[in-house]
Amino acid sequence: MTAIPAPADLKQPTLNPNAETVLVKRYLRKDEEGLVKESPTDMFWRVASSIAAEEEKYEKSPWEPEELARTFYDLMIEGVFLPNSPTLMNAGTPLGQLAACFVLPVPDSIEEIFDALKHAALIHKSGGGTGFSFSRLRPAGARVGTTGGIASGPLSFMRIFNTATEQIKQGGVRRGANMGILRVDHPDIIEFIRAKETEGEFNNFNLSVALTQEFMEQVEAGESYDLFDPRDGRIRGRLEAAQVFDLLVNKAWASGDPGIIFLDRINRDNPTPTQGEIEATNPCGEQPLLPYEACNLGSINLSRFVEIGDDGVRTLNTKRLGEIIHLAVRFLDDVIDASIYPLDEIADMVRTNRKIGLGVMGWADALYALGIPYDSDEALALGKEVMKMVQDESRAASAALAKERGPFPAYEESVFGRTGEGPYRNATTTTIAPTGSLSIIAGCSSGIEPCFALSFTRNVLDGEKLVEVNPVFELVVSETVTDEAEKITILDHVRRIGRLHNCPNAPEELLRVFRTAMDVSAKSHLAMQAAFQKYTDNAVSKTVNLPNEATEDDIREIYLEAYRQGVKGVTVYRDGSKTGQVLCTGDGA
Ligand code: UDP
Repeated sequence: MTAIPAPADLKQPTLNPNAETVLVKRYLRKDEEGLVKESPTDMFWRVASSIAAEEEKYEKSPWEPEELARTFYDLMIEGVFLPNSPTLMNAGTPLGQLAACFVLPVPDSIEEIFDALKHAALIHKSGGGTGFSFSRLRPAGARVGTTGGIASGPLSFMRIFNTATEQIKQGGVRRGANMGILRVDHPDIIEFIRAKETEGEFNNFNLSVALTQEFMEQVEAGESYDLFDPRDGRIRGRLEAAQVFDLLVNKAWASGDPGIIFLDRINRDNPTPTQGEIEATNPCGEQPLLPYEACNLGSINLSRFVEIGDDGVRTLNTKRLGEIIHLAVRFLDDVIDASIYPLDEIADMVRTNRKIGLGVMGWADALYALGIPYDSDEALALGKEVMKMVQDESRAASAALAKERGPFPAYEESVFGRTGEGPYRNATTTTIAPTGSLSIIAGCSSGIEPCFALSFTRNVLDGEKLVEVNPVFELVVSETVTDEAEKITILDHVRRIGRLHNCPNAPEELLRVFRTAMDVSAKSHLAMQAAFQKYTDNAVSKTVNLPNEATEDDIREIYLEAYRQGVKGVTVYRDGSKTGQVLCTGDGA
């Protein structure tokens, strides 16, 4: 593709200091000496122009590449839409790997295990995260045919993956992240659930136990269940479902891991079952994928769609949202073509299903601006309405692209092809990502999470600390609290403890609206996750944050409720249960 030169009249991005720091540290290109050699403007143009250049090969494209590049550029610098980090880092560069999410198979042989390790290293080097199911590995203690020796089991191999990730992260663009999954009926499940008992062990892994509806019924009925050898399906043991579940709950209480995923639900929504069975997700759980599949994500910042009408009332501009969704789908579909994949198997799989994951961020900020409490029926209803729109419009956009460029190659055999729905250009269109870095760049709350706090210190990037006060909160305080002394008391309180809880003099309206993750009940966290999941093809990244005093029973209830609410998986996090946690409330002291 020919590079499109930057027009002289490009608008300049306005970035807050934290966004600037993050871009300089990790995103802007450096020369051999490590000196930054591009500005944020250069970076956004590099991304916009290289992605828009893909339009050249589609004769029916209604866009002239430079015009589209300008449109993409404006969306990014205004913080309206951002593609996932690898696209920002690598688009238009020789590395050219643009997807954040990968799943690699780990078959039961030394050769294939070490192939997976090598492939993971290549993916981490480019800023992507990898998910693996270790369920195909023979259990510890099983015979090794070729040597007559004894197998060391999934955990021992996961340790090697963990160490390799540790080394790659020194030289890569960012910390490599892994998801490790084991089926609940694997004979090594107890060891897996206890894997993080020792502080620091498996620090480069998120762990999830793959559960099924059948297992949950056995827990509720107090029944036992069989463990199977993955090689031949022979029964290798039996466990009490409730005891396994209790242990899972106990360990999640202690360290946040393991989370749970409902593998049968995930496969029920597999759009291309003839292409294989889904056995794992990416590191943060929002993207279930087939073995060797990758997916690129992008997020629309909902807080940018809140507008003040002539009557002074703030509303969400859904008409504009609809237009942006269409542009975002075009962007993400072009990313598939622009991306260079680290393996031929991955390139083939991605180009067969063409999955993209469009989602939202800045949801909590949007609710703040609209004056709607996160844990209210109104917020759930609006969440559903917004995500339904993202789902419907992204499908419409994908159908329009299918007319322009053809459907994804596996369309005919997909669930859509078989039922006559579509044709679509993409097997999936929606995913809610955590947006850990993107939300800093866009200056908004992350994903669909409630704000962790109204002010906080972020421990990011090699121990550096960033202090942030929620900008919507500051704005509303300045608009509604007229007494200067009162304003100072409120802001000081929030700076100190990060939320309004117990703040003397705080007006009722502020207390009602400015709720944080810690003020929101676990049930409300899950209800929001379920509301968005209802209209999301892939999954929803959501952590149910709990106060330090939360009990094991609280966690048990969340896991059971997650099952009842129909979400695809859930992660809990009890404040202070991990050292070096990424977010701390207040001044972080
Ligand atoms: N990811 C990763 N390493 C990281 C952060 C993220 O590999 O340090 C991958 C991982 O697959 C995760 C996905 O990127 O699930 C999306 O994460 P997030 O939305 O936080 O990424 P962002 O695009 O904001 O950097």
